Amino acid sequence: MSKSLTILGATGSVGRQALDLVARNPGRWQVEALTANSDAQGLADAARACGAKFAVVGDPSAYDALKTALAGSGIEAAAGAEAICEAARRPGDIVLTAIVGAAGLAPTLAAVERGATLAIANKETLVCAGPVVSAAAKASGATLLPVDSEHNAVFQVFDHARPDRVSRIILTASGGPFRTMARADMARVTVADACKHPIWSMGAKISVDSATLMNKGLELIEAHHLFPVGIERLDVIVHPQSVVHSMVEYVDGSVLAQLGTPDMRIPLAYAMAWPERIATPAARLDLASIAKLEFEAPDFERFPCLQLAWDALRADGSAPCILNAANEIAVAAFISGQVSFLDIDAIVAATLARVASGPVGSLNEVVEIDGIARAEARAQVLKRA
Ligand code: NAD
Ligand code: MG
Repeated sequence: MSKSLTILGATGSVGRQALDLVARNPGRWQVEALTANSDAQGLADAARACGAKFAVVGDPSAYDALKTALAGSGIEAAAGAEAICEAARRPGDIVLTAIVGAAGLAPTLAAVERGATLAIANKETLVCAGPVVSAAAKASGATLLPVDSEHNAVFQVFDHARPDRVSRIILTASGGPFRTMARADMARVTVADACKHPIWSMGAKISVDSATLMNKGLELIEAHHLFPVGIERLDVIVHPQSVVHSMVEYVDGSVLAQLGTPDMRIPLAYAMAWPERIATPAARLDLASIAKLEFEAPDFERFPCLQLAWDALRADGSAPCILNAANEIAVAAFISGQVSFLDIDAIVAATLARVASGPVGSLNEVVEIDGIARAEARAQVLKRA
C-alpha cells in the first residue's frame, strides 16, 4: 500500500537522495508536500517530477519564482516559515525532516504534534530541543526514526524492548578531512578543504561540522535523545573507513554493529520504508577489497568541538541549544569567509561561557535562548572578522 510522504528540505543533499528513492519505487510513496529555502526552480522541478501536491519555499522573496515555475502544473505553491509548518501539518504518513539547522525545529514539532511518523535527518532540532520534541512525541504517539547513518545503525541493532541490556552505544566518526593534521596547520585550511570529506558527499554545513568533529558532538546529543540509556553509556570512536556505521554493546559483552557502504540511501530507505526493508541501488560492501578496518580514539585537543559538545550534554539544560546556535553562526561565518576554521571552536566556547543557561521546556523557551546565543555568537564573529 502506498504511503504519503512529505519532505522538508527537499532540495538538499538528503532531500535529493530521498527523492531518488521515491523515483526508483513507483507506487510506494505518494508525495504530499516538498519544501525548500530559496531554490524555487529546483523545488518546482522536483515537485513536478514526483507529482507533489504542495510546494513551499521558506524565503518569501522566492514565492513569485515558485509560482511561475509551477504554472499549469496544478501544484499548490506557498512561502514563508509558517507555510513550511503547514506542509508538516498536512495529513501524511511520513515526514522526512531534511532541513539543515534549527530552522527545522518548528516544522518538526508541527509533524510530531500531529503524531506523524518522522524520518529525522535534521539533527540540530534534537540537539537544541530534544526534551521538547521527546515530550511532544510521547504525548502524540509520534514515531521518531533516525536517518543519520550512525543513529540509523544503532536503531537497527538496538534492543528496543530491553534497553537495560545495553551497556554502551558506540558512535563511529570518520575523523573528517583533517583527521591527521596538526592543529597549527588547521589555521590555514579553506572552506573547500573543509568540505572535501574523505567518505561522504554532504551539504556544506554538515561537511564543516565533520571537519571540526562538532558533527560527532551533535550526534552524541542526538543519540542521548533517541536512545535514553544514560550519558555515561555513550561513546565515540574514530573509524576512517566509515564501514561500521555504529555499534551497540550489550551487558554480556556482545557488540552488534551495522555495516555498509557510505550511501545515505541505505539509512533513508530503512527509515522511509520502516518497518519494511526495501532494495536500494547502494554499492554492496566488499570487505575483501577494503581489507582493513581501522579504529582510533578521538583527539579532543585537536578537535575541541567534540569536548564542548560532551560538556554541553553533561551540563544539560540549555547548554546544547547554545552550543548548536553558536556553531551554526560560527560555521556560516567560516563558509562566508569572515572567520578562520580555528575560530569556530573559539566562538562556540566563548558563547557558551557568556550566555547564561535557562530552561528549555517549551518551543518558546528554546527560540528565546537560541536567539540570545546567536546574538552573542555574532558579536564573537565580529571580534574576529
Ligand atoms: P543541505 O544544505 O544540502 O540541504 C538543506 C535543505 O534545507 C535544503 O533543501 C534547503 O533549501 C533547506 N533549508 C536550509 N535552510 C532553510 C531554512 N532556513 N528554512 C527552510 N529550509 C531551509 O543539507 P544536508 O546535507 O542535506 O543536511 C540536512 C540535514 O541532514 C542536516 O541537519 C544534516 O546534519 C543532516 N544529515 C545530513 C547527511 C548528509 O549526508 N548530507 C547525513 C546525516 C545527517
Ligand atoms: Mg551522521
